[in-house]
Amino acid sequence: MTEWDDVRQDFPILKQRVNGERLAYLDNAATTQRPTPVLKDLMNFYQHDNANVHRGVHTLAVRATNEYENARQTVQHFINAADEREIIFTRGATEGLNLVAATYSRQHIHEGDEIVVSIAEHHSNLVPWQQLAIATGACLKYIDLTTTGELDLAAAEKQITDRTKIVAVTHASNVLGTITPLQQLAALAHQHGAVIVADGAQAVPHFAVDVQQLGVDFYAFSGHKMLSGMGIGVLYGRYDLLAAMPPYQFGGEMISSVQRQSTTFAEPPYKFEAGTPNVAGAISLASAIHYLQGLGMAEVERHERELVATALPRLLAEDHVTVYGPHDPAKHTGVIAFNITGLHPHDVATALDMEGVAVRAGHHCAQPLMDYLGVTATARASFYFYNNQQDVDQLIHAIRETKEFFHVGSI
Ligand code: PMP
Repeated sequence: MTEWDDVRQDFPILKQRVNGERLAYLDNAATTQRPTPVLKDLMNFYQHDNANVHRGVHTLAVRATNEYENARQTVQHFINAADEREIIFTRGATEGLNLVAATYSRQHIHEGDEIVVSIAEHHSNLVPWQQLAIATGACLKYIDLTTTGELDLAAAEKQITDRTKIVAVTHASNVLGTITPLQQLAALAHQHGAVIVADGAQAVPHFAVDVQQLGVDFYAFSGHKMLSGMGIGVLYGRYDLLAAMPPYQFGGEMISSVQRQSTTFAEPPYKFEAGTPNVAGAISLASAIHYLQGLGMAEVERHERELVATALPRLLAEDHVTVYGPHDPAKHTGVIAFNITGLHPHDVATALDMEGVAVRAGHHCAQPLMDYLGVTATARASFYFYNNQQDVDQLIHAIRETKEFFHVGSI
């Protein structure tokens, strides 16, 4: 049994008071906090091993290189990739998705081809495809959602055709808290000869992900949403696809040999890692993964579901509160988007902050989804394993205080 109160002790940032109140940090979909063991590993790297990787033969360079490459293997095993060469370190999910759009797609997308996304995409997994469609004359098509906010597989079957070359979908929505049936969608994409690109930014931190079992061709995620430093992320790609793709950026580290008029490129993953990489970031990501493995991803998922199982019905029972996405906690990750009738979500978030509750407000980088839902913005509470029932209580209390302050329902 995990002692979740003990786990919280690893996150000193959570102990502070904000505006005189206990901090309830419920903005984990934007970024998570870092536990002390990850901060220690980061400090240890800079205090003892810091050097540039791959180029040096001196002791620190060898140590830094080993730690960087070990981090790659840690990621490989965490998402069950078949080969460590399938793991490319990036700046984050955004860069990974742009990499695929700029390289694989540059070779494979032509006028009249189709790119299929869902209406629930974060702009990171939408704008790159939209711009590619504009540049190539390809057609960008959308998969709608069911009435409960889940990806509609029947709609997907209609939208994905033999002209479809890419299906790009989020694994877990950063607004609705829904999980995409990725395995079925991957099979459907493959039946039509398309590749599937998944945005795992809101999935990998929260439940076990096995890229081989899912059958995805590309899968991107960010370290900062799973306890590690900012500016580090991962793109998983099937090796045969990566090997055939052109490089993303050019420069040091990514070459095999350079002549005056031509260059041959390194093999994956180095072909896609031009310049000095974020070595400390990769080390912090590996440290974060070890921390999560220590808890067990099944336990992390279970604990988050427990929190949502109490938070969601309580939010749904609140007068003048609208919750977006499924009302069944079993269909939810730790993300809950909501509005209070008559209040702008920014005012809601500011009022909640006065009560020590940190939530996000806005369009959550998903404007087509907001449009689809018929709103311009929402507030969003998002949980991680270090949250507790006190955070849930504080959220509900703060919402009530906010409604009272703004006289919601009495005007
Ligand atoms: N996709 C989803 C679903 C996200 O929630 C986010 C982060 N808000 C991203 C992509 C982009 O992640 P990053 O900014 O770390 O690249």
